[in-house]
Parts: sequence; structure tokens; C-alpha cells
Amino acid sequence: MEEKLARRRRVVLVPAPAQGHITPMMQLAKALHLKGFSITVAQTKFNYLNPSNDLSEFQFVTIPENLPVSDLRNLGPGRFLIKLANECYVSFKELLGQLLANEEEEIACVIYDEFMYFVEVAVKEFKLRNVIFSTTSATAFVCRFVMCKLYAKDGLAQLKEGGGREEELVPELYPIRYKDLPSSVFASVECSVELFKNTCYKGTASSVIINTVSCLEISSLEWLRQELDIPVYPIGPLHMAVSAPSTSLLEENESCIEWLNKQKPSSVIYISLGSFTMVETKEVLEMAYGLVSSNQHFLWVIRPGSINGSEISEEELLKKMVITDRGYIVKWAPQKQVLAHSAVGAFWSHCGWNSTLESLGEGVPMICRPFTTDQKGNARYLECVWKVGIQVEGKLERGAVEKAVKRLMVDEEGEEMKRRALSLKEKLKDSVLAQGSSHNSLDDFIKTL
Ligand code: UDP
Repeated sequence: MEEKLARRRRVVLVPAPAQGHITPMMQLAKALHLKGFSITVAQTKFNYLNPSNDLSEFQFVTIPENLPVSDLRNLGPGRFLIKLANECYVSFKELLGQLLANEEEEIACVIYDEFMYFVEVAVKEFKLRNVIFSTTSATAFVCRFVMCKLYAKDGLAQLKEGGGREEELVPELYPIRYKDLPSSVFASVECSVELFKNTCYKGTASSVIINTVSCLEISSLEWLRQELDIPVYPIGPLHMAVSAPSTSLLEENESCIEWLNKQKPSSVIYISLGSFTMVETKEVLEMAYGLVSSNQHFLWVIRPGSINGSEISEEELLKKMVITDRGYIVKWAPQKQVLAHSAVGAFWSHCGWNSTLESLGEGVPMICRPFTTDQKGNARYLECVWKVGIQVEGKLERGAVEKAVKRLMVDEEGEEMKRRALSLKEKLKDSVLAQGSSHNSLDDFIKTL
């Protein structure tokens, strides 16, 4: 009976156009679908998410806009998202109007990625329930608020690189330093703050759901509850709560699993820098030489187009490293499967929030080399709060790479991190089981619909 009632209710989801945002949104879609809701995904042409067989149970609709496809690459994420929002305020309202007119089912709520903030205006106009979904950590959400507050108080002085306070701790945000605030390498501080002002604006939102877990970020969640004064539901890690269809935008190379099958337990370091990080050729080479001298086996994801400067082919890189048998390179890996593999002993990561949760969920300690935005805060938490990671800072040199890899893969220190990571894994597993904190939180949220 309850199932039948819910079946007649539809949830409209609006993901942001990036791999790390689409994946958790589709996991949320799956979780809500399993609870009996019909799902509509409203996306722009920038999502490239095809309603394949795996996703055929969801309805997909397109938010019309006229931006050139090249804007996504040319403008950088910050300016692009602001431009996209300006373009979609009106067209999304029209689309929602059509959905409401044609729809036999009632729309229970519209859930939008925090960066697709233009949705709020239309939802308010139609007096629908409006829910913000944060696919980054609760701490990143807090940091965005803090950046806006600092900007309002002192302008840009403290936030700009070279402002002299980079190494100082931000008051009441331990262990976040000024340099760990989520400024972007793709945008000016002004542009980041302009974007964050919109994403931090709760407007008429009835609640916020976050892909995180209470036990990881209790103080940041409390901070948000007080600041926003609406319910905040930590419902993650969603990838552990539901088995969702693959939403990978690139083809996963499964051959690396066969290669891992041939390696000894905990003997391989997995290296992946996410879906949009760029690295300099020089840095790639320093990593390569450092890995060789560490004597460890490695599986390395080198995404096409991710190296700035002269592109190196995988073959060339392996040749330079003179160790074709110890390393394996792919363009894109089935990451969750890789991290779950017993041969993987550590993860060298840019610390995107999904990668962080996926690694914690498998009890794999990390070498943290954040590139931009929220990755910096995630790296700090991994090293200083959860103590399951080592951050490599500053100019990357082969000696530092070798040292970090050995600390994690060989030394007693690494063993301790592994033990802590395994204990966190159990906590995360428990949180998504019946009566677990995230499980209950999702149920509480659904009751409000
Ligand atoms: N990923 C993957 N294969 C790869 C590299 C990454 O499937 O070879 C997935 C990874 O599992 C994660 C997502 O891409 O779910 C990256 O998201 P994250 O938030 O970690 O970083 P972003 O790409 O947003 O910087």
C-alpha cells in the first residue's frame, strides 16, 4: 500500500555537468526509485549522460540552452556554471511548467545539485518542495560559506595566494588553513566567491542532503545545521548504500583487473587524479621516477588530455621508467572495482570527494595530492582528522614521491594507517545498513516527502 502510494509521486533531479556530480546524483536517483518514487532527470546537453538500458527506468528531459559546447572547456568550471545558471533560469521554469502540466503524477520535490542553483527560482514560483543536494563534503560546504564571509568582511586580502596567511589555520575550522579553502585554479577568487554566494544561498530550500556520513564530519554538519536552520541529512556514502548503474562518461578498461589478479595482496599503489585534473609533463615524470625508485607495483590512470605540455603516450612513459612489468597504465579504470581489489594497498589521489569516499569505503589509505577546490580540504581531513593519508605538498619531486610511497607501502606508519582505514571502512558499512546513521537519515528525509 505504502509502495503504491509512493509510486504515484515523482522526484525531479537536476545534476551538475561533471562526472563527480552526476555519479552520486544517479546513486540518489536509484535509492529514491527503490523507495517507490518515479524519477525525472533534467539535464543540459553538457551532461553527456545517455539514458542507456541501465538508466531506462528514469525519465530524461533536456533543459534548453544555447551555450557553445566549447564553453565547458574554455571558461573553466566556475565561470561556466555562472553562465549556465544565467542561461537556464527561464528555460528551466518553462520545462518545469511543462512537466507539471503533462504529469499525471504529483511532483514530490525537486532535488538539485548545489551548483545548479538557478533551479530554486522556478521551484519557488511553482510552490514545489525544493531540496539542495551536495555531492561534496559537509566541510567543503562550510568552507564555501566561510569564504563568502571572509570576503564580505575583509575583501580578498586573506584569500589571495600571496596574501601572507596561506599557512595559518582558519579560526574554528581546524585543520583547514587559508590555502585549503576551496578556491579554484580555474577561476579568480572573485569568481569563486560569486559562485559560492549562490550555492550557499538556501533560499526556499526545505532541506539539504549531503553525500557524507555523520561519523566523518560531525562538527561540519552541526555548523551547517546552525547556519542554515533547516534539516541537513547526511545520507552517504551513496555508492555503498545502493548498487547504481554505471554512469562513467569514459570507457572503463577492465584489463587492469586481470593485471591486478596476478599481483600479491596489498602490493599495488593505484594512481588516479579524477575526471578533470591537469598535470604538467614535468610532474608526471617526477611521479614516474619516484615510483620506479620506490620499488612498488603500480596501476596508473592517465586520462587522455590530462597532461599539460607535450603529451606522453603510455608506452613512452613506461619506456622512460624501464619497468614495463611493474607498472600498468590505463586511460580510465573501473575505480570502485580497483579499490575493492585485495592487491591494492594504497591510492594516490587528487582527493575528489567521490574518490575519497570510495577509498575510505574500501579501507585503502591514501597519498593525497590535491589539485584544486574542495580537494584541498579533503586532503587535510584525510591526513589530520581521519589520519589515513599522507599529503604531498609543494613542488613535486621524485624524492618526495618515493618517500611518500614507502611511508605508506613499506613502513610501520603505513600499517597503522591501514588499520585505521579498515576500522573506518566498518563504520561506513554500518552507517548504510538498517538502523545505521545514513540509512536512518535517508528514511527521515523520505518521510518529509
Ligand atoms: N573514476 C573512474 N575511473 C577512473 C578515475 C575516476 O571511474 O579511472 C571515477 C571515480 O570512481 C569517481 C569519479 O570518477 O567516482 C571522480 O570523482 P571525484 O569526485 O573523485 O573527482 P572529480 O573527477 O570530480 O575531480
